[in-house]
Amino acid sequence: MEFISTRGGQKVSCASEAIAKGLATDGGLFVPAYFPNVKDKLESILDMDYAETAAFVLSQYLTEYDYDDLLLACQKAYDRFDSDSAAPIVKIDDKLFIMELFHGPTLAFKDVALMLLPYLLRKGCDNCGIKEEILILVATSGDTGKAALEGFKNQPGIKVMVYYPSEGVSDMQKLLMTTQEGENLSVTAVKGNFDDCQSAVKTIFSSNEIKERLLKENVVLSSANSINFGRLAPQIAYYFSAYADLVNAEEIKFGEEVDFCVPTGNFGNILAGYYAKMMGLPIGKLVCASNKNNVLTDFFATGKYDINREFYKTTSPSMDILISSNLERLVFEMSGRNFEVTKQRMNDLSKSKEYTVSDIERVKISKQFLAGYCDEKNCVSTIKNFFDEYGYTLDPHTSVAVTVADRFMDELNNPMVILSTASPYKFPESVYKALTGKVDTDAFNASKKLEYTTAEPVPEQISELKEKTVKFTKVVEKEDICDTVFEFIQK
Ligand SMILES: *Cc1c(COP(=O)(O)O)cnc(C)c1O
Repeated sequence: MEFISTRGGQKVSCASEAIAKGLATDGGLFVPAYFPNVKDKLESILDMDYAETAAFVLSQYLTEYDYDDLLLACQKAYDRFDSDSAAPIVKIDDKLFIMELFHGPTLAFKDVALMLLPYLLRKGCDNCGIKEEILILVATSGDTGKAALEGFKNQPGIKVMVYYPSEGVSDMQKLLMTTQEGENLSVTAVKGNFDDCQSAVKTIFSSNEIKERLLKENVVLSSANSINFGRLAPQIAYYFSAYADLVNAEEIKFGEEVDFCVPTGNFGNILAGYYAKMMGLPIGKLVCASNKNNVLTDFFATGKYDINREFYKTTSPSMDILISSNLERLVFEMSGRNFEVTKQRMNDLSKSKEYTVSDIERVKISKQFLAGYCDEKNCVSTIKNFFDEYGYTLDPHTSVAVTVADRFMDELNNPMVILSTASPYKFPESVYKALTGKVDTDAFNASKKLEYTTAEPVPEQISELKEKTVKFTKVVEKEDICDTVFEFIQK
């Protein structure tokens, strides 16, 4: 299948090339030439396990990948999860379900894509005859970084550099990254917020001069952020798997619609849901849940995307984002796949920090999406109330989604699936405080106390962290990110 850039400047002949490159040369994002419709084959997913569902969905786009090879890679990737399915569904009540996406090695939903991405990328490069060493630059709001490090550690021919906002991640998230072992990896803190990291990394991607200098060192760039289609594609699969699980559990009849509510930052996770819908999966509404950084909520309400606003640090740091990069893919679709318009809007965003879509587009969007946000106070009270009522512990990101979904429950009739994106143990201080009102600022003490409070065991990945040595301590200004790249590859 062909892939095109949302800004019209580049077209590639297959998914391999889109995945290997990560971002188009014109700064746009690669999107599939069309959405493959699987309606006629949908019933077959009822008999598939998670890896088979993933391979089924991926093979619709990755048409040049050998199917058996792809299936094997999915099986290997999802064997690393501690649950039967990579995305098990928990029933909360008759209409409310939680899809737990945090059973992978790094305890957040990023694992679903990042345990598979090394294979997708390696094969993609082989398919395109790319022989150079691959350097993956990652900007992270906390969870992508760790998942990329874990997924790519010691992969031959691939190096990974992770940049995280120095004050913008939880203590556990930071420790998980800075203690990472592996020969081909680097982790750097950047002064600023996630948007600063992401913009700096994107600037490197769109600089031909830097890319030429890298090529002289026999290095080509790729991305493990959700701007890369290879990150997005595996995330489409769990919407299918959730649907099949609900049918098989007789919660819905085959063909009936399901709504999903997604805690959103960079708009990757929820966009994957939109792609699933475009492929023919019976999805009603997709609910976009934001924290206090509610730029998306305002956009859905008014049609104006406006980042001229204060940036807040919240207890759901992985959603502390103003420039939601995957929204470009949605805006592109809603414009009727108009390259010129999309390019203009993205230019406006970088120059005047805003753009506005037409009323027609806004109405189109509201047919598919609902949006809301949750402030810090409500995030805390939902964690507490949900635990008291259902005995279920939410992480702060999932709590944002539960809070927002709850507001729409009266007007929506379909079953609602909340995407749970992280284990509460990645944010033990916040969750412990929400549940008990008590403060413990030491992440390890807090996780012990959280275990005592909830009777859910601390995951090994967290408890073993205490014994590990911190390997990465570097902090840089965002202007110096490019220098760190050359230092690392010349090492
Ligand atoms: C990355 C992340 C999100 C946001 O996902 P996007 O795809 O960026 O919208 C939400 N919650 C957690 C825990 C995350 O790690």
